[in-house]
Amino acid sequence: MKNEQYFTAESLAIAGGYDATTAHNSIKPPIYQTSTFKFNTAEEGKAFFQKATGEAPLEERNASLIYTRLNHPNAITAEYRLAKLDGAEDAAFFESGMAAISTTLLTFCNAGDLILMSTPLYGGTDAFIKKHLVNFGIDYVEFDPSDSKEQIKEKLMAHQNAKKLKVIYVETPANPTLALTDISALDELRQEINQEGIHPVIVADNTYMGPIFQKPIAHGADINVYSATKYIGGHSDIIAGAASGKDIYLKEIKKKRAILGNTASPFTSWLLSRSLETIGLRMEKQAANAAKLADFLAGHPQVEKLHFLGTLTEEDADYTLYKRQYTSAGAMMAVEIKGGESEAFRFLNALQLVQLAISLGSTETLASHPYTMSSSNMDEADRLKSGITPNLVRISVGIENPEDIIKDVKQALNAV
Ligand code: PLP
Repeated sequence: MKNEQYFTAESLAIAGGYDATTAHNSIKPPIYQTSTFKFNTAEEGKAFFQKATGEAPLEERNASLIYTRLNHPNAITAEYRLAKLDGAEDAAFFESGMAAISTTLLTFCNAGDLILMSTPLYGGTDAFIKKHLVNFGIDYVEFDPSDSKEQIKEKLMAHQNAKKLKVIYVETPANPTLALTDISALDELRQEINQEGIHPVIVADNTYMGPIFQKPIAHGADINVYSATKYIGGHSDIIAGAASGKDIYLKEIKKKRAILGNTASPFTSWLLSRSLETIGLRMEKQAANAAKLADFLAGHPQVEKLHFLGTLTEEDADYTLYKRQYTSAGAMMAVEIKGGESEAFRFLNALQLVQLAISLGSTETLASHPYTMSSSNMDEADRLKSGITPNLVRISVGIENPEDIIKDVKQALNAV
């Protein structure tokens, strides 16, 4: 687009990353359903390979189309839009959030290396690190989001491989507890350990809030990772993942993606570039609906405790961090129903408009039971320590009429 520097990310996410003159002036990008791209000459093919795998600037690498596993026009459009929204130099899309997370961790960690991670993490990420990466000689140190920088440093330094720390990995807000981790405090910690020759990248899972309500890069993170299945896709009709950040890191992540072979397909990428046009609108409406539902739930006699960032007050430990790191409370909440698993199940089974399914961030409101569902592959002790209890229900608020959502939740609480 001409003079893109004059426009905001909000507008570039709609009109950017695509040149209509390359496609019969069609307003929307076509789906480039092709596995490979024809070279005009053998010399061009040679040059494209040199550029794509070398140190050429991003525009030249993107213009060197070779083979869809490496890169393709639909991914380039979606990646441009996400990078703009995230305030990042580049982005990469994958066929799932787990593909984005596993590829990113494998880009920076080799045998003998260490990961420093917040708790809890999404069940799949937790299992990937604790049950899979450890088999490749990659170890981890956990910290609690409420730990001070000094406590985190102490936990890290107690590990024999502290010098081999390669990734500080955080999920904030954490799924499903909404625990908040201070990214800028970790950036300060990183600067301290840099003096001791330890140079980790900071990776933030921004699935719950991004790219609209939290910009981890502005707070010191190097790379965002996402389940793009959630708010970025936004319609519960695709599985996808993303990473975004500085070009130096994304270049390496994209090389690993090409080798592991989990690049988002042309159709998935096309849906993602379409979805990125409305993500701001959707998330604002979801957040407004969530605030109304939270008002109803707070203090309800069947509710033991409501976890929602919008109900934090100055008395809460996370309040200052919430105000500093986020521009909205978002649309995710977790509700402790009075009682245990049976009461939570009675609530879930009575819902009518709100649908009982895992996943989140879509136009429809979804409710689920993390303890037995999305977090069930975490060790029980870890679940309970993080507050993932049998009476906890997670709600992802959609864009329906908020009064209807409240009506449905009210009748389901009455059925408990
Ligand atoms: N990160 C978070 C916070 C998630 O909630 C999820 C999935 O629920 C993932 C990562 C994994 O994403 P996907 O299911 O797209 O592989």
